[in-house]
Amino acid sequence: MTVHILGGGISGLSAAFYLCKKIPPNTISIWEASKRTGGWIQTHKTDTGILFEQAARTLRPRSETGTNTLNLIEELQLIGEIRPIYSSSPAAKNRLIYVNGKLHTLPSSLLGLFRTQSPFSKPLIVNFINEHKQPIKKVVDESIYDFMNRRFGSEVADYLMSPLICGICAGNSKEISVNFLATQLFQYEQNYGSITRGLLHNIFSSKKNVHKSALLDRVKSEKWSVYSFKNGLETLPSTLENVISSHGVEINLNTKCDKVEFFGKEVIIHNQHTSVKSKHLFSTLLSEIFALLISDQHPKLSVLLKQIQSVDVAVVNLHFKGNLIKNPAFGLLVPPQENLPILGIIFDSCCFSQKNDTVLTVMMGGYWFKRNFENFKTDEEFFDVALAHVKKILKIDEEPLEYKVNILKNCIPQYTVGHRETVNKIKDYVESSNLPLSLCGMSYDGVGVNDVILSAKKSVESFLQKNS
Ligand SMILES: Cc1cc2nc3c(=O)[nH]c(=O)nc-3n(C[C@H](O)[C@H](O)[C@H](O)COP(=O)(O)OP(=O)(O)OC[C@H]3O[C@@H](n4cnc5c(N)ncnc54)[C@H](O)[C@@H]3O)c2cc1C
Repeated sequence: MTVHILGGGISGLSAAFYLCKKIPPNTISIWEASKRTGGWIQTHKTDTGILFEQAARTLRPRSETGTNTLNLIEELQLIGEIRPIYSSSPAAKNRLIYVNGKLHTLPSSLLGLFRTQSPFSKPLIVNFINEHKQPIKKVVDESIYDFMNRRFGSEVADYLMSPLICGICAGNSKEISVNFLATQLFQYEQNYGSITRGLLHNIFSSKKNVHKSALLDRVKSEKWSVYSFKNGLETLPSTLENVISSHGVEINLNTKCDKVEFFGKEVIIHNQHTSVKSKHLFSTLLSEIFALLISDQHPKLSVLLKQIQSVDVAVVNLHFKGNLIKNPAFGLLVPPQENLPILGIIFDSCCFSQKNDTVLTVMMGGYWFKRNFENFKTDEEFFDVALAHVKKILKIDEEPLEYKVNILKNCIPQYTVGHRETVNKIKDYVESSNLPLSLCGMSYDGVGVNDVILSAKKSVESFLQKNS
């Protein structure tokens, strides 16, 4: 009997790839609601040959999740397609924030910590020195804003952490869980009394990196910061699709699952045309979408899944003639207290040069989407807001040669305080009910491409272990 995967984004394709190695590929079937695979990863080539990324654009090569993706890239023989950004490049070193109508460069070196750099009122090293004197607060979880405010003071919470959370998950740092998105910092305080003590302990007891990859050696020696592919990030899902389908995995496009029912060791998945029996189901859908598919049969599980809510983001890609960026950087972020309708601007052409022109991406909305854009009806309205802010902040007078607007509905889950506990309850429910179900993807184990690939791999390993 077949194993089914719901969703043909990078999670679903990766799950199929890892499954393919251990079970006959022709017993694996993907159901994908849209007309293409890749999910949020989509690279659009414009009429003038410029690459616009719809959502994800760069990958981090370090850590367990990063190394796992490097291994996958090696297996897919994609090394020749990689485009790294080296640590020495301005796109790796310079990160800007827009505060009080001005751009400020965040400190990027040890030396920078010893200087007073606006908008901070004193050198950041002072916050670090004071941090270890702050009392420990024993908690299970709290917001990342409250945690940083407690440990480092309000300037670090406002100007470093809050914009960073906008950049990572388009979220409000006053609601996002520290025990999920900054687990290590949180554990340093809980286990060693302060972050600085935890960091020192980590340096002195630091174990060798156990994660191995031949490509990782190159990453280290060439000092990569982040990377993408020559033809954009979509190279990764499209290569995965080619590989798994050439092995015999069935990929059903335009096939939206409407309902899922479990009967003993089997699961039945339904869409408007057909109902199919399956031995095991991998859902890579957002938890709040999957919640609707099982709500009749498992209302309690559905309620838990609905607790992980996601936000909408408007993405506006812009292409201008010539190099108009005066201050090369990865991009800029806008702290929420500035009350602007944009989250930030990515300087794509500083990361990867494109014909010596300027390519920018404006991200808007996220947690504040409804507040700012509830009455917006057309793409032009989003374009106007994006362009007005680009002109004002980057002092650009030119009109773009071309642009693209994408409104990404429910695209980034919010890991609010208590997220880890919610995920544990969901996994406990599935386990104790013996459901032939694995849950992976963005809602559970992390927002980045690296996270969801590893989440898919671990789900497959756990399924194979239970069924061996
Ligand atoms: C604006 C933005 C910027 C980002 N930037 C980065 C970045 O720079 N680096 C990074 O690492 N990550 C980034 N991410 C995160 C990254 O894009 C995601 O982690 C990743 O794409 C998630 O892949 P997925 O397969 O889990 O989900 P998805 O891509 O959402 O795939 C799920 C698939 O399921 C399908 N589906 C939905 N409902 C059904 C149904 N009922 N039946 C069948 N199929 C269904 C959908 O059509 C979709 O194809 C960004 C995300 C966003 C939104």
